[in-house]
Amino acid sequence: MLHTSFIELDKEALNNNIRFIREQLDSDTRYSMVVKANAYGHGIEQLLPAIEECGVTHFSVFSAAEAMRVHEAKKEDCEVMIMGWVDDDYLEWAINKEVSFFVFTPERLSATLKQARKMDKPARIHLELETGMHRTGFCADQLPEVFEMLANNKKHFRLEGLCTHYAGAEDYINYDRVEKQIKTFDRLCTLFEENRLSPIYKHSACSAALFNFPETTQDLVRIGISSYGYWPSSGTKMRYKMKHKIEGDPLDRILTWKSKIQSINNVAENEYVSYGKSYLTNRPSKIATVPVGYGYGFSRTLSNDGHVLVGGKRAPVVGSVNMNMMVLDVTDVGNVAVGDEVVLVGEQNGREISIGSFSDMNNSMNYELLTRLPHHIPRRVV
Ligand SMILES: *Cc1c(COP(=O)(O)O)cnc(C)c1O
Repeated sequence: MLHTSFIELDKEALNNNIRFIREQLDSDTRYSMVVKANAYGHGIEQLLPAIEECGVTHFSVFSAAEAMRVHEAKKEDCEVMIMGWVDDDYLEWAINKEVSFFVFTPERLSATLKQARKMDKPARIHLELETGMHRTGFCADQLPEVFEMLANNKKHFRLEGLCTHYAGAEDYINYDRVEKQIKTFDRLCTLFEENRLSPIYKHSACSAALFNFPETTQDLVRIGISSYGYWPSSGTKMRYKMKHKIEGDPLDRILTWKSKIQSINNVAENEYVSYGKSYLTNRPSKIATVPVGYGYGFSRTLSNDGHVLVGGKRAPVVGSVNMNMMVLDVTDVGNVAVGDEVVLVGEQNGREISIGSFSDMNNSMNYELLTRLPHHIPRRVV
């Protein structure tokens, strides 16, 4: 093992998740798999062929840089959509490659139409509408200007989409806010129709909206976290299970992250372990190191808090997580030897560490921990 850890991607789990999510959709709703942030840490290049084998032909990313990677890795007939950053310098590339992208400011709309006119090739645009998240999108009072620009450039764009994003569909505490957004989106879309602008796709649903507000699925859904086997929140999972009266978890984790025991030492009672004084032994302890620290994607917030699997048991991370290493208390694990497998995320001997149960933390940490997994960790599909 050259690197200090490796990641396995379970194709069967991916297939299961995509099938399960498809079951929630009308047959003519397009499934766009969100592969931004290096496919939520899974690895764009490694995972893309497997996603395509599951029949998904539409990919969403955040930036032009990610779009280029997907464009390189994908099959010819698959489409790429950029939901965020395209600098003016890359509009030409996007238009040329027929990559569609979100437009949410008059400046970008004008630059896009200008570039398309110059190239004599229509830009495939998704107009993002501000419905209540107050992040990006055209507000109602900007629409007359948008309609005028579009009317003057009919040949230079294809209205691929009208879209918006919900501000917290994973938690019912935001119910009224999301409901209001749904109504606003509908109202704004009607204004486009009145101006004879009909998009190919109206789209707004992410994973959370798909499960909690199924009426938002419309023509296309942008599904990230659940494609990878995680619920957007534990509340979403519980609601779904109660509503459909099912046991178990219909989603399967795709990712397994493993390393090995690097060293084992005996430490006397009443000694501090790792940097500083955050962990003091209560007893003579067997202490093991794993060559994965915060520099390699294992968050420092898991100091004295995270767990891993070794020798078929859960072992606590003790002391602070270092840049390159973590320290485990393996006193209660039984026989552990240098070189033994350590599971940072995944299963061993019927026990599981999911990303969320790294420690007793909120599921929203899934997103952050996954996307922080460094690019250099080797990944392979199994
Ligand atoms: C990330 C993102 C999604 C996907 O969200 P998940 O919760 O991972 O399904 C959808 N739409 C937009 C605009 C996003 O940025």
